[in-house]
Parts: sequence; structure tokens; C-alpha cells
Amino acid sequence: MYNIAVIPGDGIGKEVVDATLIVLDKLPIEFNYTHAIAGDACKEETGKALPDETIKIAKESDAVLFGAAGETAADVIVRLRHELNTFVNLRPVKSLQPDKYGDIDFMIVRENTEDLYIGDEEETPEGAIARKKITKKASEKISEYAFKYAKDTGRKQVTCVHKANVLKISDGLFKNTFYEVAQNHPEIETNDFYVDATAMYLITNPLDFEVIVTTNLYGDILSDEGAGLVGGLGMIPSANIGDENGLFEPVHGSAPDIAGQQIANPAATILSACMMLDYLGESEAARKVEEVLIDVIREGKNVTPDLGGTSTTTQMAEYIASKL
Ligand code: ATP
Repeated sequence: MYNIAVIPGDGIGKEVVDATLIVLDKLPIEFNYTHAIAGDACKEETGKALPDETIKIAKESDAVLFGAAGETAADVIVRLRHELNTFVNLRPVKSLQPDKYGDIDFMIVRENTEDLYIGDEEETPEGAIARKKITKKASEKISEYAFKYAKDTGRKQVTCVHKANVLKISDGLFKNTFYEVAQNHPEIETNDFYVDATAMYLITNPLDFEVIVTTNLYGDILSDEGAGLVGGLGMIPSANIGDENGLFEPVHGSAPDIAGQQIANPAATILSACMMLDYLGESEAARKVEEVLIDVIREGKNVTPDLGGTSTTTQMAEYIASKL
């Protein structure tokens, strides 16, 4: 039995997490869910966007399934990643409809603890300053993870993405560390690109990428671009992994424009749950759910409007569950 902390959060977070639980409940695996609160509504109610009790529940669980946070995202998800020491954020960009989008399949390995996300901003007499933190240790750890991931999954190439021509010291350190770590993995090919060029190559040559390792902010932006390549934000899952904890969440946010309408695509969250199953060692169940989800998306009937169907979020999940 696995103890899962469930934090639906705001907006469509609740709808897509509820839908995902419908799918998980169909598996022959026992989950003990502990529901916890966080986000905008939680802040209004309790005065805190991320209550201590929620952090405690998350830390004590075997894994966390998270939905989305709205305006309070920085206080909730960025802080949770920090509290749980999840140093890597994995964001697979994989086309589930290759006939429509081409056979795109690469992994973004995003550093999850530093960069501009440390939130060190201050007002100055002229305006404002934000500090960007890059350490040797975190850069080594994330590069090492990317090479190990490439090896474990049979990929042949790792690409480092940075902006070391402008940020010579900080991004320079990230890039140089990547090439130092690469020396321990001579069987994996390496290359590196500036983040702006990468933004273009992802559109012009998306099949050239296998594993991208990058800093926190670039990883965030490129993964949304990746979502655009394979059918939208409703399709991209993510995993935050540390030495002791795992937190799984869709890449999309709370999408207030469509919240409460039951039209959010649950695929990103269901796929995040598959990453959670992998993390828990339940890979067979993960592949099964993925297979069924892909079939349902390709069939194109019992899916949400962004995928061309007329089903609600819950109906799509129930249909997937019925096929398991
Ligand atoms: P937040 O500030 O919480 O990140 P946001 O609206 O700025 O919210 P996202 O939630 O990431 O950003 O989504 C951007 C847009 O993409 C949404 O407004 C919505 O139209 C679309 N979108 C996101 N997720 C989904 C989904 N699961 N299904 C369908 N459309 C989605």
C-alpha cells in the first residue's frame, strides 16, 4: 500500500486531480490518500497558501500528487519543491498523436532548486533587481541526473541549454560543469545551445532532441513551448524528484479561464500519475495506463474539447478507467 498526499489546489487543479483518482482507483494497487490544502482559496480561508500541515503530510507520504496553484504558485509549488528537496524536474515532451504532430519524444531535465526561482528580488531607487543563483554542486547533480536518465532510457544524446554568452559567470558555470560531468559518460553524445536558439530549434528541428538539461527558468519556458509542439498544455506531465521525495504535477497551471467548466484535459495529470507509478516501482501499471490513455486520445471520441471531443473531464477519466 502506498501513502499518497493529494493536493488539488486551485482552478482546474481540482477537476484534473479528481479525474486522475478515478483512473488510479481502477488499478489493482492499494493507495491510501491523504487530502491536503494549498493555493489561493486556501490562503483566503486560512491566511496561508501552504499550511505547515500540508508540508508535513507531503513529507510523510510515499509520493505527492499535485494539481495547480493560481496566483500563489510561487508560495506553494516552488516552496513545496524546496521543502521536499526535489532537485530535478522531469518534463517529457512526447507526441501521443505522432500522425498529427510528428514523432516528437524528448525529455527536459530542469534544475529545480536555484536560478531566478530563489525569489531574491528587491526594489532599488532605479527599479528592481533579481538575483540568479547557480552553484557548482546543483549543476553537477542535475547534469549527472540527465546522463544517468539518458543511459537508463537508451537515449544517446544530452543537450545543455544556457545563455553563457551573456551570463558568462553563472550560465558559464552551468555549461562548464555539464562538460566536466560529460567526461564520466563518454558513451553519450553531447552538445549545447543558447536558450534563444533552442526556442527556434524546438520548432524547426524537434526530432533532433533526446534529453535537454537546463536551468530552472529556461526549463520552465521550454517545456511550455514543448507543450505547444505536441497538442497543448493539457498533455504534458511532470515529476519533481529528490533523494527522499517525489511530487507529480501537470505542467499547466490553474487555468482560471476554463476552471469549473469540466472541459480541462486530464491527460497531463493522468500522465503525471504514471510518472508517480514509475517512481513507486509500479512500472507495469504505469505502461498500462499510458497505453489506454494513448488509445483513447487517438480514438478521439471520448475526449475533452481541446482534443476535438465533447466529453467532460470526468467523462474522459471514466472512459479511460472503464478500459483498464
Ligand atoms: P496559472 O497562472 O495558474 O499558471 P494560467 O492560465 O496562466 O494559470 P495555465 O493554467 O498554464 O496558465 O494555462 C494557460 C492556458 O492553457 C489556459 O488558460 C487554458 O486555456 C489552457 N490550458 C491549460 N491547461 C489545460 C488543460 N488541462 N486542458 C485544456 N486547456 C488547458
